[in-house]
Amino acid sequence: NKIVIAIDGFSSTGKSTIAKQLAKQLNYIYVDTGAMYRAVTYFALENNLIGEDFFHSETLIKKLDDIHITFKFNEALGFAEVYLNGEHIEKEIRTLRVSQYVSPVATISEVRQKLVEQQQLMGKDKGIVMDGRDIGTVVFPDAELKIFMTASAKTRAQRRYKELLERGHNLSYEDVLENVTTRDRIDSTRKDSPLVKAEGAIEIDNSDLTIEEQLDSIIKLVNA
Ligand code: C5P
Repeated sequence: NKIVIAIDGFSSTGKSTIAKQLAKQLNYIYVDTGAMYRAVTYFALENNLIGEDFFHSETLIKKLDDIHITFKFNEALGFAEVYLNGEHIEKEIRTLRVSQYVSPVATISEVRQKLVEQQQLMGKDKGIVMDGRDIGTVVFPDAELKIFMTASAKTRAQRRYKELLERGHNLSYEDVLENVTTRDRIDSTRKDSPLVKAEGAIEIDNSDLTIEEQLDSIIKLVNA
């Protein structure tokens, strides 16, 4: 029997790494909801709706119907990649620039409403692993399995920094640490769907756990 697995947690807790592998092992669909908020942010940046000293949020809300986010499975990578109006934007949405503006964009209720609706549709047949900040609280409050991932801020910034360097981005560790802590603050204090541990969620602190150890314990929970 296929189930819904909701994985939430702060930035760079390794949610997507675990979610991807879990989906592979279970033959489930994996959905990276952060990529969807990043896609909307990329759209806002490209259309000059957000910048250092301005945020035309009303215009962004009006243009939401022009934003079509889709996922397409990449055989070589083994997971689905995100597209914005047909354009492949996986690399563009991982930049520090998008990371700096995504949390303010994610505070807009109309943005959340649109994306949550799409996420619920994607999971309606179950057999899905979805990661984000509000999956167990808002998107799938009835998910059969909810995980809340945590790790120390330092561990998280180091992971993110390493990942970004490997992807060829050029930035400093301090900038990454600052971005991770700022996003966590905005995400956990916003009015609409703040990041909190969902009722019934199982907390996993993975600061000192290998990927295999984490996968093992989650698979046990799936089979329990
Ligand atoms: O998961 P990722 O770090 O790529 O998410 C980027 C940002 O998108 C988060 O910091 C948060 O502001 C927003 N987000 C959200 N709700 C989700 C997923 C992401 O608000 N379900």
